[in-house]
Amino acid sequence: MAEKKTLETLFHDTLKDIYYAERKILKALPKMARGASSSQLKAAFEKHRDQTEVHVERLQQVFEILGKRAQGKTCEAIEGLIAEGEEILDGFKGQPAIDAGLASAAQAVEHYEIARYGTLARWAGELGLKDAQKLLATTLQEETATDAALTALAEKTLNQSAMAA
Ligand code: FE
Ligand code: FE
Repeated sequence: MAEKKTLETLFHDTLKDIYYAERKILKALPKMARGASSSQLKAAFEKHRDQTEVHVERLQQVFEILGKRAQGKTCEAIEGLIAEGEEILDGFKGQPAIDAGLASAAQAVEHYEIARYGTLARWAGELGLKDAQKLLATTLQEETATDAALTALAEKTLNQSAMAA
């Protein structure tokens, strides 16, 4: 008989998905920072790169709690979202709308992470993995704060700069 697939299976598979995604994001953020023209946006990307390093470490702790090896599984969603960011980097280089575009691409990534961590934190709670739930909820809160910071920056300066004649 085939192995029974349960909520724990889903939890472990989704953990591998976000682990793969976080490591991709860790590599993408410095490129986004280099491509940004606004010094505030650069700083936001650099700050989030440092946070992302911690996100990877927290996931390694969650794998440890599960008694599983930290292992990623190709996440097509993040490949697509990062490719969209690269399209902005290439297509809007030197253009007034580069920063508004990069911020929006980064927010699409944050929203993906928010969806994943929201689910994972909830599942960890239901599986009785309190420590894992706490780690995942902490990262979720940082992703949410990053998304809000990017919205604020876009509304305050980036969108206006993008409209410059
Ligand atoms: Fe993250
Ligand atoms: Fe993030």
